Amino acid sequence: MYELSLDGKKYNCTDVAPVGCNDCEGCSICCREMGDTIIQDPFDMWMFCSNMRLSGGMQVTFELLVSEDGPWELSYQDGLLLPNIKMVDDGHCSFLNEKGRCSIHKIRSGLCRLFPLGRGFEEDGSIYYYVLNKELGCEKMKGPGDPVGISEWLGYEDIEKYELFQVAWHRIKRNLQDRISILEEKKADNLRERLLLLFFDKPYGKDFYSDFAARVNEWMSNI
Ligand code: SF4
Ligand code: SF4
Repeated sequence: MYELSLDGKKYNCTDVAPVGCNDCEGCSICCREMGDTIIQDPFDMWMFCSNMRLSGGMQVTFELLVSEDGPWELSYQDGLLLPNIKMVDDGHCSFLNEKGRCSIHKIRSGLCRLFPLGRGFEEDGSIYYYVLNKELGCEKMKGPGDPVGISEWLGYEDIEKYELFQVAWHRIKRNLQDRISILEEKKADNLRERLLLLFFDKPYGKDFYSDFAARVNEWMSNI
């Protein structure tokens, strides 16, 4: 963590961290040239799909999101197959509008909300945050930014439930990575696909957290 961190400190969600960048002020560097690094999780997908449905837009499915014309794509991430936001045309995020602003700001994904914070997990599974160093972090800050409450920065309605979800999702991925590393490729592919089908492809209802918890139980008892 320390080599990635700007100030060598670990924060929790109730802390204040120096990440304020004055609302980006015309900068959109971190929405460009990001390759396959803006990895999506099941909460990102639920938030995106349910918001589209509520706002009267089309019924968005995982299949549509990762289709050729969709805003996401699938990529291998530490042995797993996971969705990430696609970079298009000259290498900008497909959600970046012509004014250089995020067109889905209110429902942007977890990694977009975090930046320029990083997130780590302690051995006991608890979450910590750190300010990304100059190479990885906000281009504009050039050092510590304005102090901002981390929970407020992330902007989730229920940060406690959100963090519990992150811890569970992290564990599932870690366990699967360990498992896959000793499996033959055909069996590994089968598990990768099952992860996508259960946690992304199967639609979530209104209560994401309870649906997700049920899927964790299903995953643990069938894997
Ligand atoms: S690099 Fe910093 S200022 Fe620029 S868009 Fe990203 S967070 Fe905003
Ligand atoms: S989703 Fe929005 S915040 Fe995230 S990279 Fe794309 S344009 Fe930037």
